[in-house]
Order: sequence, then structure tokens, then C-alpha cells
Amino acid sequence: MSTQWTKSDWRAKERIQMPVYEDAAKLNAAEARLASYPPLVFAGEARALQAKLADVAAGRAFLLQGGDCAESFGEFSADTIRDTYKVLLQMAVVLTYGAKMPVVKVGRMAGQFAKPRSSGTEKVGGVELPSYRGDIINGFDFTPEARIPDPDRMLQAYTQAAASLNLLRAFSQGGFADIHRVHSWTLGFADKKGAEAYQALATRISDSLSFMEAAGLDSSKVDSLGRVDFYTSHEALLLEYEEALTRLDSTSGKWVAGSGHMIWIGDRTRQPDGAHVEYCRGVINPIGLKCGPSLQPDELIELIDRLNPNNEAGRLTLIARFGAGKVGDHLPGLIKAVEREGKKVVWSCDPMHGNTIKSETGFKTRPFESVLREVQEFFAIHQAEGTHAGGVHFEMTGKDVTECTGGVRAVTDEDLSSRYHTACDPRLNASQALELAFLVAEELEK
Ligand code: PEP
Ligand code: MN
Repeated sequence: MSTQWTKSDWRAKERIQMPVYEDAAKLNAAEARLASYPPLVFAGEARALQAKLADVAAGRAFLLQGGDCAESFGEFSADTIRDTYKVLLQMAVVLTYGAKMPVVKVGRMAGQFAKPRSSGTEKVGGVELPSYRGDIINGFDFTPEARIPDPDRMLQAYTQAAASLNLLRAFSQGGFADIHRVHSWTLGFADKKGAEAYQALATRISDSLSFMEAAGLDSSKVDSLGRVDFYTSHEALLLEYEEALTRLDSTSGKWVAGSGHMIWIGDRTRQPDGAHVEYCRGVINPIGLKCGPSLQPDELIELIDRLNPNNEAGRLTLIARFGAGKVGDHLPGLIKAVEREGKKVVWSCDPMHGNTIKSETGFKTRPFESVLREVQEFFAIHQAEGTHAGGVHFEMTGKDVTECTGGVRAVTDEDLSSRYHTACDPRLNASQALELAFLVAEELEK
């Protein structure tokens, strides 16, 4: 089946959540330019990530995936990237220490620009306009002009993704992520309690490094301590963009999505016969599949068969997102079906998307307590089923925003308005994200 696959086959399938571009000539020109540009990632990296995820599937490693709900053109800066990266490094240290296993680090970064929406239109004060679908598609401003899908936005997204990835590679390989710098990844505004817990852990780690040196092992020469492997991921929603960046891997003769290391299929676009599954099944990158409350066990098996017909470990990550209090209604049935069929998958938990509520002050938010509860339910169910709770998937930022309520610094409903910056879903701020990492580490130590 996959030998006949071509990168444009999705066009013959039903597509949802995608824009209708009015100017076909402009669209074709943008696609042609993108297709002539270098890919952002290459196939060897996608294979290396799959090998690491295969360790997660086998219970030997843990996956940390996180970043913005949506990257934006307006918030693009080195500081924003650096701060999110720092928090991810801190979380990874905490999790590595707790899990006593390698943590595979994947950012929702350098390509996370397109958003599925629950409604095609938005109404404000009696005016109805097409919904904002992410900066790669249209503009956030509530004007008819901004909301027109513009294909040239794909070119700007590509440029931003390339520059972001360049900086992420520099941080990962150029010394910033050296474990000897574990104390330096803190952010100025982190809350006192979380910062102290992190500093205590960092001190234990630097003490261990000093001990190794005293014992004759020069840890500065151990390559794996000086660098990290950091991967990028995004939802493969805008298929014109994905197709244009799809490349043939000369080593294997197979197709690779050049837009990022890992791509995922959203909960709204996972129809087995739809355009998004059709595109993703043909590329060799690790694929994520969001699993929400409407997914039935037999449909999941059908999707696994389509997306991973050779049952390769590390190819497919199932990202469960049911909502606190609901995990027990859905996850056991899915796990049982996967186990019965002997499918090799990574199980990850996205405790964000099932826990979005409207605060009394009118903001879309997520209570920290619900986020944590969903993670705890996810771990308890895997423990009961005898399967590996393999990872977590967060929407978070290194910025000191007030978008999710709760946490040790207790963001209240009233606080939400003070630093609510997201153009899409509410993100955990740096201290909430770090606190959550400590609490997940406790689950891993159980
Ligand atoms: C997302 O990850 O931003 C998202 C929209 O998730 P889901 O498809 O699970 O709703
Ligand atoms: Mn989101």
C-alpha cells in the first residue's frame, strides 16, 4: 500500500479544519517556493527520534513534549525560544532524576502554527467573522481582512521555523544544555518554593558530577553530558505546507516530512479515511495521534493499522486527552485493545485539552488541579493495566503568564487578566510547568 503513496494523495480525501484559499495562483506560487526550499529536518533525525521513542514504547525511556499551543509571528524572539527551552530542560532534569531513565525531549516548537477550531466563525458584539486558525493561515485581528487565509503566511512560518530550529540546535549542541550548567537554567521569576526544589536537585546533580571527577572520570569529556538531543514537533494540520516540505530520503527511498521531526494528528482530524491520516501514513517521521473521548477501541486499531502497518516501535505515539475524571471511562478500553492486538505504541498524556473551561471572569483557562489529576489518573490506569505510562504532553511557556489557574503561586480567576497572552489555548507558565514536572516525577518514582 505505502509504495503507491504519493505526497498529494490527501487531496482526493475529505479535508476538514483547513482553509479555503481564494487566490489559487498565489497559493500555487507559495507552494512552489516552499517546495524549492531546503527541508528543516532530515530523515536520519526522524529515524533517530523513532529509535528513542521505541525505547519509550518498551518502557525504557520517558517522553517529554511541550511548548506553545500555537507559535505566533508577533511573539517571535530569541528570548521567547530560550525561556521555553530552559523550562523544558529543567523539566527534563527533574523527570530524568525521578524516572531514572532517559527523557526524550520534543518541543511543540519551530512549526506549531496551525490550529483546529471548534467553530468556523467567531462572533463578537454581533459581528461574525471566520475564526482565527493560526498565524500560518490568517491573522488574529478581528477584522474581515485579517481573517482571509493568505498563502504567503506559509513562507513566513517556514522562515520563523527555520530560525527557531537553528537556535534550538545551537542551544542543544553548543554548550547551553551542558549538564554542568544545570544551575543556570532557572528563570528569574520562578516562585520561591519551586525554585528552591529545583536548586536542591541541581546541587545534588553537580555534587554527583564533582564526585565523578574526584573519582577520576572527567565528566566534561563525556559527550552525552555536554549536549542534548532536542526534537521539534507540530500538528500536521495545514497539508499544503506539509506536502510542499515533503522530501524523498535518498538513503531509504522513503518520504519524510521536512517540516519537523515529529508530527501529530489532532483529535478533530483523525478520521481513518480523511486527508490528515492519508498524508501522515506515508511519511517516515514519528507520528502522534491525539485520542479524545469519542475514539472507540476498534477505530483506534483501524488507525494504528493504517498509520503503522508494520507495527514498528516508536513510529506511533498515542496522546490521550480525555479530561480529569474521565480518563477511567476511556483509557482502559483503548489500552486493552492495543494489548490484545499486540500493537507497539508509546502512551503519552496530554492533560491540557480535556480540561479547558471558561473562568468566572470570562477567560478560557485550565485549572492546575485538573491538569495534575488527569496525569495521576493516567499513571494509575497504566499501573493497573501493567503498561508503561510513557510520556506527557503540555502546553506551556517560559514566560510568566497567567493563563492557567492554580499552582503554588496560586493564579486566581481575577489574576487571569493581568498577563493573559495566548492567542489560542491557555498555557502553563514556567513555575506551573516546573511544579508539574516534580509531581510527574513523583508518579514515576512510585
Ligand atoms: C492541540 O494540541 O493544540 C490540540 C488542538 O489538541 P487536540 O487535537 O487534542 O484537541
Ligand atoms: Mn491547544
